[in-house]
Amino acid sequence: MSASKLSRREPVLGEASPSVPESVWCSHDRIVEEFSMNQPIPPYLFAFAVGDIDGRDIGPRTRVYAEGGAEVLEAAAREFAGVEEMVMVGESLFGPYEWERFDLLVLPPSFPYGGMENPRMVFLTPTVIKGDATGAQVVAHELAHSWTGNLITNKTNEDFWLNEGFTTYAERRIVEVVQGKERADLNIGIGWRGLHDEMIRFKDKMEFTKLKTKQEGVDPDDVYSQVPYEKGFQFLWRIERQIGRPAFDEFLKKYIATFKFQSIDTDTFLEFLKANIPGIENQINLHLWVNGTGIPPDAMEPVSAIYTEIVSLAREFISGKVPTEEEVSHWHGQEWELYLENLPNSVEASQVTALDSRYRLSESQDFEVKVAFLQLAISSGCKEYFAEVERTLKQVGRMKYLRPLYTTLVQGNAKEEERLLAKRIYEEARDFYHPIARGVVESIFSTRL
Ligand SMILES: [Zn+2]
Repeated sequence: MSASKLSRREPVLGEASPSVPESVWCSHDRIVEEFSMNQPIPPYLFAFAVGDIDGRDIGPRTRVYAEGGAEVLEAAAREFAGVEEMVMVGESLFGPYEWERFDLLVLPPSFPYGGMENPRMVFLTPTVIKGDATGAQVVAHELAHSWTGNLITNKTNEDFWLNEGFTTYAERRIVEVVQGKERADLNIGIGWRGLHDEMIRFKDKMEFTKLKTKQEGVDPDDVYSQVPYEKGFQFLWRIERQIGRPAFDEFLKKYIATFKFQSIDTDTFLEFLKANIPGIENQINLHLWVNGTGIPPDAMEPVSAIYTEIVSLAREFISGKVPTEEEVSHWHGQEWELYLENLPNSVEASQVTALDSRYRLSESQDFEVKVAFLQLAISSGCKEYFAEVERTLKQVGRMKYLRPLYTTLVQGNAKEEERLLAKRIYEEARDFYHPIARGVVESIFSTRL
């Protein structure tokens, strides 16, 4: 919540004042401040930020906040300079921005998520500050929640895809306008790859490959995955392809305007879809998309020149070909991430070190790249990178990085030495991690050991 635009009663120190209303009271050791917000929100979107926090304006309705002084603020202000443009793009695509402020708070590195879409003030991991404006993508995602998720919330966690599938779709539409179609297609490609990985992860629990899941007795953190994001995206993209973009845009705007400030379930969405796009149920197998397991046959791998080029370069790696300087000259973190994730799980250790000595991936400032590389290094048995793995696991608490690194260290074919290393690092880093992150790491240990 942002203090700047909220109605705020100045705290009164010292003696209780008879003029203070009943709801606000003060005494020698307490200060009560009262805030109000006009827009209704569900409780999961309410959060406190407490600390020695400074702020700097970067747009007419945006201020970045951070601990750590001028240097951190400076870097954040540079990284997020394009935010106002993104908000305006969002408004043109999805309707008015209803939350007045769009402030950004950069949190300490133990924050377990990439971002949290708290209305009026998004919380962000510091790992999105990469110095090349690619962190704007996480911001595009959290901004997209201003329309999908925050404005229309899923009624239960079983309808979580209504939040994240729509937001992933909306995020990519914003990215397409701000950073171009090629970048948006690359993101779809990375998501497509991630969706396939989840099918392998859930091969014995196919329930969680459905869009609408049954979660009775299930801890949502245990089954958190890319499925609601990427399968949800694919479903909406499929509808867009069926009816054409102009009609789908019109439908989206109407959907948002109809259900804003409400919590809805999947059936409500489907009824609205069928009422507004007559006959859609005869053109798309809605039941299969929503209640079926796996990836429907009419989901689509994106057509992207960069994506195709990177995937084929990754395939050539097995025969010993490392990409040339020229081939990687236009690559950012996402391209490297896609390349590394498409390499075989285990390759010759000498190939891994050769790749790193050429491109210094283990030293990347971009954690997406560094973690993807370290994962490859562990599974290929490159012990010389264990110290870097340890440093990384003690430096950041974002679950996106903890999950693959710990999993690779303790999974089926990991050596005893690697399992012991993982246990020791966790014992030493445990207090630094957020409780939700601890739970995730501990469940990796309990299922793998
Ligand atoms: Zn989200």
